[in-house]
Amino acid sequence: MDVMKERLRRLDSVLTEMYGPKPLRPHGDPLGELVHIILTQNTSDANSDRTYAALRAAYPSWDQAALAPPGDIADVIRMGGLSDIKAVRIGDALRRIEADFGSISLASLDTMEKTDAFDYLTSLPGVGPKTAACVLLFALGRPVFPVDTHVHRVSNRLGLVATRSPAATQAALMPAVPDEIVYQLHMNMVTHGRKACKAGRPACSRCLLQSECDWACERAQAVADSETQYAPPNSAGDNG
Ligand code: SF4
Repeated sequence: MDVMKERLRRLDSVLTEMYGPKPLRPHGDPLGELVHIILTQNTSDANSDRTYAALRAAYPSWDQAALAPPGDIADVIRMGGLSDIKAVRIGDALRRIEADFGSISLASLDTMEKTDAFDYLTSLPGVGPKTAACVLLFALGRPVFPVDTHVHRVSNRLGLVATRSPAATQAALMPAVPDEIVYQLHMNMVTHGRKACKAGRPACSRCLLQSECDWACERAQAVADSETQYAPPNSAGDNG
């Protein structure tokens, strides 16, 4: 039995007890997901939703967006910040996809091998492993585990990995997370990182994972050590 897979299944079951089940309902639009994620960089979800809606209203077809000068796209998405960079990235990605597939569509990813689809997406300019995994998982329901800053922090505190970047954590966890829990585990780890296992001050006292968490154990040990160090001398010592 694979110890890591068992541990991840147990983690999924505890987090589901804490935050509820998360059924996967892929929306079926990988290209829309990719462009949307490009627009989320350095802005809030609400703002990127508004920016994406403005882009689709200005360019109802991706062919129109691919032909548009970057400056025009930048004007449309200005409200989302970093508009000049994002406009170039979107235009470059659309034209590259057209050159590779003969049309501006990522529907072919659904029938490619999972690793080939992942490698293709990460070969696009400005697309990293987290974005590629999100496109495959959220749009097509392909079981590829995305790691953001929350999943990275929680994974390291729990001792699942000992890594220095979300990309390294994703490389370690992608082959290990069982397919059937990829979506639910990702969603509940993000929620756990936002609500309890925060970067500054994790709420360990109300966390059901305390007994199997390296970070909580180390902290408990540090407290015990400091109490031993500053314990008052015993009576024998006083008299000696
Ligand atoms: S016990 Fe604390 S550090 Fe460990 S996962 Fe829970 S909140 Fe995070």
